[in-house]
Amino acid sequence: MHTTDIRHMTPSELVCFLAGLGKETYRAGQITRWMYQRGVRTFDGMTNLSKHFREELASVAHIGVLRIDRILESKDGTKKILFILEDGLAVESVLIRERNHWTLCVSTQAGCGMGCAFCLTGAFGFKRNLLPGEIVDQIAMLKFSIPEGSDILNIVMMGMGEPLANYENTLKAVAIITGDTCLGFSKRRITVSTCGIVPMIGRLSKDTEVNLAVSLNAADNTTRSMLVPVNRTYPLEMLIDACRDYRMPRRRRITFEYVLIDGVNDSEYDARKLSALVAGVNCKFNLIPFNEFQDSSFKTPPGERVQSFRRVLVSHHFTAVVRMSKGGDIMAACGQLSGQLEDHTAKTIT
Ligand code: SAH
Ligand code: SF4
Repeated sequence: MHTTDIRHMTPSELVCFLAGLGKETYRAGQITRWMYQRGVRTFDGMTNLSKHFREELASVAHIGVLRIDRILESKDGTKKILFILEDGLAVESVLIRERNHWTLCVSTQAGCGMGCAFCLTGAFGFKRNLLPGEIVDQIAMLKFSIPEGSDILNIVMMGMGEPLANYENTLKAVAIITGDTCLGFSKRRITVSTCGIVPMIGRLSKDTEVNLAVSLNAADNTTRSMLVPVNRTYPLEMLIDACRDYRMPRRRRITFEYVLIDGVNDSEYDARKLSALVAGVNCKFNLIPFNEFQDSSFKTPPGERVQSFRRVLVSHHFTAVVRMSKGGDIMAACGQLSGQLEDHTAKTIT
């Protein structure tokens, strides 16, 4: 289809697009309410628009689809959803069950080009950036498929890909996710996770006000450059400075994610270096014991090493939680998302 896909437009872009057709501003809200609040994905189904307007829209625009291919459910209630994009590539989202609600972990790229040594998504390499509507539709589609009486409360951009390497589209997605007449989430409920693209952290801080999570994963430049190659361009000192300057929603703290890898970055000495490194930053820690996958050379540390690492941080007055791995049996845990990209790409070629 060669008409414009309105899924990728922010609320204000849709207003401009409709103005070009001579339509009033409020029409944009009518259309997005149908799309995001009622799940209607054809202009024809938008019955409070005149028939003539619906036909006119259909001649210049369309609403693309993000197809749910499969939903896998873990023993612990975590669900992994495999989506197929219009060009046949696949991405994954993970729904994590909390006490009374769900946290949805969304992808921002098909694959990832950052090449972190411990990440399966990284091992697949970069396929392409997701468009704004492809990021948003992971939420819009799943909103209608969760059990009644519970809701998606938090959105974390921690699925496949590096959100800040797809900056414009991520920002547009945030505008749609938070738009009153769209998905209506508050910015406090959105977290963008980055491996540390420093200039983009600065821009994000100016452009919007979402929660920031930074995947630190090491407390010295030698180890971090080995694990997270972007550290060679933006070393720890620059990254921590950017974190200090980041503007968060009120009373929020930066989350530092730290993947604990057996014998690599999990000693008490590492924990002390880490405490010194982030001294004075308004932050909390998520410690993630490395999730193993086939062919990974790294190992998960023993439980007691994880606890002693945590205790050092706590003794330095930091909040540190060990993120219990969820969905490991369906490869939905952190760093295990691959989107089975090879399979689906192959399918489109044949
Ligand atoms: N690209 C962004 C967001 C997606 S990665 C980022 O790097 O922050 C989401 C999180 O999964 C990151 O904190 C990353 O460090 C972690 N992760 C990646 N591979 C992992 C693995 N094998 N085990 C545990 N956590 C992993
Ligand atoms: Fe990309 Fe994040 Fe994986 Fe690194 S950890 S390869 S940035 S998805």
